[in-house]
Amino acid sequence: MNSGLPLGRAFGTEIRAHWTWILLLALITVVFGEGLSTQTGPGFDAALGWGTAIVTAILIFASVTVHELAHVRVARRAGIGGNVVVIQLLGGTYLMEVRPRTWGQELRVALAGPLVSVTLAAVFATIAGAIELGWGGSNDVPQGILAASFVTEVLALFNLLLLVTNLIPGYPMDGARVVHAVAWARYGRDDVATKVASRVGRIVGFCVMAVGAVIIVLVDLWPGLALIVAGWLLVGSSRILDRRLMLQNLIAGAHVSDAADSDFARVPAQLTLDVFAGEYLRDRLGGAALVERGEELLGLIGTAQIRRIPRRNWPVMRTEQAMVPLGSVPRASGDADLWPALEILERSGLDGLLIGTGQHVSALLTRRSAGRLIRELAERQARESGVLLLVPRLPGRRTPSAPPGPPAPPVPPAEPEGSADPSSDDTTDQ
Ligand SMILES: [Zn+2]
Repeated sequence: MNSGLPLGRAFGTEIRAHWTWILLLALITVVFGEGLSTQTGPGFDAALGWGTAIVTAILIFASVTVHELAHVRVARRAGIGGNVVVIQLLGGTYLMEVRPRTWGQELRVALAGPLVSVTLAAVFATIAGAIELGWGGSNDVPQGILAASFVTEVLALFNLLLLVTNLIPGYPMDGARVVHAVAWARYGRDDVATKVASRVGRIVGFCVMAVGAVIIVLVDLWPGLALIVAGWLLVGSSRILDRRLMLQNLIAGAHVSDAADSDFARVPAQLTLDVFAGEYLRDRLGGAALVERGEELLGLIGTAQIRRIPRRNWPVMRTEQAMVPLGSVPRASGDADLWPALEILERSGLDGLLIGTGQHVSALLTRRSAGRLIRELAERQARESGVLLLVPRLPGRRTPSAPPGPPAPPVPPAEPEGSADPSSDDTTDQ
C-alpha cells in the first residue's frame, strides 16, 4: 500500500506518486519533444520544443495530483480519509480507502475530484480558445504563443479524459462511488447500495468489453484490446466487492471474541527464524505468535514479518529482531464487532490484532483464526439453508518463502482448505 515515490504531505495525508509515473513522464516528454522540435509539430526550435514537452508532462501529472488532492481534502475534512494517497495513472485507488458514514459524505468526496477536473478542462480550453481568437488567422504567430497554445490544448483534452474515465460507474472509479452514494440515499442501506454499485459496475465492465470487441473488428486491434482489458478490470473489481459483501453479511453480528484465538503461540525472543518458521508457521499459515522474554511480552511475529527477510538470514536472525513491538500492534476489544476489527487487521498489514490491555493479552485475532470462524459460519449457513456452499474464495497459501504477491484481498482467512467443499469451485466465481 505504501508503494511509490514520496512527494510530501497535504491535508495531513502522505502523497506518493506511483512508480509508473517516472516512465510515463519520460515517455510523454520524448513523444511531444520529438514531435514539436521536428517537422510533425508546429516546428519549434529544438530547445523550445523540448521545454514545451517537459512543461506539458509536468502539468499532466499535476492535473491528476490536484484531482486526487480534491478527494483527500474533502475526505479529511469529514474525518474519514486514509493516511496515504498514491497518485496512479488516471487518478487513484484512494477512494477505495475512504469509509464514509453517510451517503452525503460519500457523494461529496466522490464528486470532488471530477469537479476539479472539469474546472481545469474549462480553464485550459478557455485559454486555448482565447489564443485561437487572438492569433487564429495570423501567419506570423510568435513561437511562445504557439507553445502556450499547444500546452493548453493538450491539458484541456487530458483533463476531459480524466473526467470521463473517472465518471465511469465501475470500481475503482469515482463514478462507482457516485452510484453507491445515490443507491444508499435511495434504499437507506449501505450494503444494498454496495450490491447495486457492484452490479452496475459489472454491467458497465461487460459493455466496455463489448465495445472493445466491436472496435477490434471495425477499427483497430490495439485500442479494442485496451478496452477489453479495462472492461475486464472493472468486472474483476466488482467481483471482489461482491465477495467482500458476502463476507460482511456472513459475519454480521459476530464479535471479535468469536474469532479470536485464546490458545495462541508464545515464542522465546532468542528463537531463530528458521526454527520459528519450521515449527510455528508451517501449520499456522496466516497465524501469528507473541514474542516473550521470560514473562514479558515483547511483540508480535507472523508471516508478514518473516517474508520480508531473505531465507538465508533466517538461521542468524532471532524473533525479537523481526517482530513488531507490542506497542505498535493494534488492539481490539473482545466484545467489539468483528468486521471493523478485520478491516483494521487488513489495513495494518500484520497477521494479528491483540485482545487485551498492556502486558495482559488474553487472545489474538489472526487471519487464520478469522478464517476458521468464517468457514464455520459459511458451513452452518449452508446446512441451514440447504443450498450450495457459497464460501467467498479464500486466498492461496501464504508461505513464508513466497514472493510478495498482489495486494491482499479484503480479509484473507488463511485456510486454503476453505474451498474443500466440492461445490464451492463452481460457485465462488458466480
Ligand atoms: Zn477521482
